[in-house]
Amino acid sequence: GISSFYPEQIQDNPIIPNIILTSFKKFNEEVQLDTAISYKSQITLSPNENVFSFEFTALNFINAEENKFAYKMDGFNKDWITTDASNRIASYTNLDPGDYTFRVKGSNNDGVWNETGTSIKITILPPWWRTVWAYGVYILALGFAFYRYRNFELNRAKLNQKYEMEHFEATKLKEMDQVKSRFFANISHEFRTPLTLILGPLGKMLGKLKGSEWDQDLNLMQRQAKQLLDLVTQLLDLSKLEAGKMKILVSQRNIVPLLKGLTQSFASLADRDNKTLSFITELEDIQVHVDRDAMTKIINNLLSNAFKFTESGAAIQVDVQNLQPAKPDGNGHLSITIRDDGIGIPEERLNQIFDRFYQVDNSETREREGTGIGLALTRELVELHHGSIEVSSAESTGTTFTITLPLGADHLKPEEVSDSAEDLADEALEDQLVDETDVTSSSQTVVDESQPILLIVEDNPDVRNYIKSDLNDHYNCHEAVDGEAGLEQALDLIPDLIISDVMMPKMDGVEFCRRIKTEERTSHIPVILLTAKADLESKLEGLETGADDYLTKPFEVEELQVRIKNLIEQRELLRERFKQDLSLVPADLNLPSMDEQFLEKAIGIISDHFSDQKFNVDVFSRKIFMSRQHLHRKLKSITGRTAVEFIRFIRLKSAALLLRKEQGTISEIAYEVGFSSLPHFSRAFHDEFGCSPSAYLAKHKAGD
Ligand code: ATP
Ligand code: MG
Repeated sequence: GISSFYPEQIQDNPIIPNIILTSFKKFNEEVQLDTAISYKSQITLSPNENVFSFEFTALNFINAEENKFAYKMDGFNKDWITTDASNRIASYTNLDPGDYTFRVKGSNNDGVWNETGTSIKITILPPWWRTVWAYGVYILALGFAFYRYRNFELNRAKLNQKYEMEHFEATKLKEMDQVKSRFFANISHEFRTPLTLILGPLGKMLGKLKGSEWDQDLNLMQRQAKQLLDLVTQLLDLSKLEAGKMKILVSQRNIVPLLKGLTQSFASLADRDNKTLSFITELEDIQVHVDRDAMTKIINNLLSNAFKFTESGAAIQVDVQNLQPAKPDGNGHLSITIRDDGIGIPEERLNQIFDRFYQVDNSETREREGTGIGLALTRELVELHHGSIEVSSAESTGTTFTITLPLGADHLKPEEVSDSAEDLADEALEDQLVDETDVTSSSQTVVDESQPILLIVEDNPDVRNYIKSDLNDHYNCHEAVDGEAGLEQALDLIPDLIISDVMMPKMDGVEFCRRIKTEERTSHIPVILLTAKADLESKLEGLETGADDYLTKPFEVEELQVRIKNLIEQRELLRERFKQDLSLVPADLNLPSMDEQFLEKAIGIISDHFSDQKFNVDVFSRKIFMSRQHLHRKLKSITGRTAVEFIRFIRLKSAALLLRKEQGTISEIAYEVGFSSLPHFSRAFHDEFGCSPSAYLAKHKAGD
C-alpha cells in the first residue's frame, strides 16, 4: 500500500468557519436560557453573579482539533486571548458592574480566520447602593447635611455675636451703674451741705419770728428743706449700701419708747389727714439690740408709706410683740407690725416692692410722690440687723408690713455692738424729749376710748366725709369703701354702730347687713342703712335682713345723728336691764335672736365651769369659739361688761338666785358658784348688789 499524492493538488480548507457560543455557565453551572445562547445578543446579570463562563466552537468539522480561537471581553481585556480546540472556554470572575461585550473569533483547521466571529453584550447591574436612585439620594443627603451644617455655623456665629454684644452691654451697664451710683453719692453730698446751711438759719429765724406773719412761710420752707434733706440722705444711704459700706452699730435698749416716739412723730400728720394712728404694745419694756438711726429710718419709711398709700380716714396701727422662742433655750423674736387699711398692693407686685426704684404706680400721672427707694433701704437695714421684713397686702383693703428682729445678742458680731454707755444716756434723754413734745402735739389725735365707735361703709368719699364731719366730735369714726372692706373692719373693730350705704361695689349694703347680722361676733351691732328714695324694695330688704333703721337719701346729718343716738341709747338700756335682771334667761331681754343665743351659750359655759378653778377668759373664749378680743368687745357691747367682769357677774347672779331660793348656806353657795374664799365673795357681792350676802338673804326673805 503506497499512498501517493500530488502536493500541488493538496488544497487548504478555504471555508471560513462560523463561530458560535455553545453554553453559558454561572458559578460553573449551566444556565437554562429562554433561547439558545447562540441566538442571544445580550445578557443581564445581577451584581453578585460575577463568576461566569462561555463555551464556544467553530463550525468546521474537518480536522476540528486544529481549529483555533481568540476571545476578548471588551471593557475588561485589552488583548485577544488565543486558545485552541481543546480549551474552548472563557471564564470571568469579579467583573465590576458595567457594560461589556464578549467577542470570540476562530479559524478552521487551516488557519482561515473568521475575523468577525460572534459577540454578546453583557450588562452587570450595579448593586442597589450604586444605582442612579441611590446616587440621587446620596446627593440629596449630602446637600441637606451641608445645608444643616451651614445653618448651624451661621447660628453659632450669630449666637456668639449676640453673647458678645450682651456681655459688652452688661459690662457697659455695670460701668454705667457704678458711674451713676458714684454720681448720686457725690451729688447727694453736694446737696447736703447747702441744705444744712439753709436749715440752720431757718431754724433760728423760726425761733425769732414765731407768731409773726412769716411764721407759716418759714414753717413751709423748713418742712420742704427737711424733706429734701431726707431724700438726699436716703440716696446716700443707698449708694453706701450698694458699695457695702453701710454698717450698723447696735446697742441694747428698750425699744418700746423709741417706737412709741417714732409713731407719735406722725401724729400731727395723722391729725391733718384725718387718719387714726394707734400704737399697741404687749409689754412696756422689750430689750433689743438695735441701731437707733437705722431703726428710725425703718419705721419712718414704713409709716410714711402707710400714710402715703391710704385715703383720708384710714386707720394705721403699729403693733409691737414679743414672740416666744420656738425652743425653750432660744432667745425669741421681736415683731413690729405696721398695718394700714389703704389702697393695698396687687398680689403680683408684692415681690417687687422691695426692689430699688420700684413703684407700683409709676405712671407720669401718679398722685403720690416718691422715688421707690424707701422699701429697698428698709429691707437692707432690717437685714443688717439680722432680721427679716415681710409684707402681706390685698388691693384696696390694706397692707401689713411685719419686721422680725431676733432678741438677745447671739447673732451679732462683736464689731456691730456699741459699748459706749454715753450714747445710750444721750439717747434716753432724746427719747424723753420726743415723748414730751409729741404728746402735746398729738393730744388731739389720741383716740378717746370712751366714745362709741362708728363704722361708716360708703363708697362715695363725699358722702363719707359729709357724714363724718358732723359725727367726728361725738364718735370715734372709722370708714370703709364697700361692703367687703366694711365686713372686715367690722370684724376687726367690733364697732358700736354701723352706717352703711345700700348701693356699693363688690358687696352691697343688703348683703353686708345680712352678713353682719348672721355673724356671731357682730350680730349685736345696730345697723343703719342708707337707701335711695326710690328703692322701696331694697328698703324692705334692708329691714328683713335685720337692719335696725334706715334713712332715705338725701338725708340731713341731724336726722342721722338722732337715729344713731337712739340706737346707742337703746343698747345702753338693754345693758342696764341685763345688769338688773336676775333671771339668767336672756329671752326676757328681747334681744335679737342671735345675741340671745350667744348670751345663753355664754352663761351656759360659765355655769358649767363654776367648780373649775382653772376656768378663765382664755378657756371661755376657746369654748365659745371667739378670740379673746372679739369676745371682750361683744360682751362689752351687749352687757357693758368685760369678759372677766361678765364671768364674775354670772357667778354672783347665780349666787343671788340661789340665796333667794335659800338653797344652802352662804359659804356653800359661794363655793358652789366658784368662789374659793368667803370674804372675797362677800366683797364682790357687795360691789355688785350694794349689800352683803346675808343682808340680801334677809331682805329677800322679808320681801317674799
Ligand atoms: P420713697 O419711699 O422713696 O419716697 P416710695 O414710697 O414710692 O418712694 P417705697 O417706699 O420703696 O417707695 O415703696 C415702693 C412701692 O411699694 C410704693 O411706690 C407703693 O407702690 C408700694 N407700697 C409701699 N408701701 C405701701 C403701702 N403701705 N400701701 C400700699 N402700697 C405700698
Ligand atoms: Mg416709701
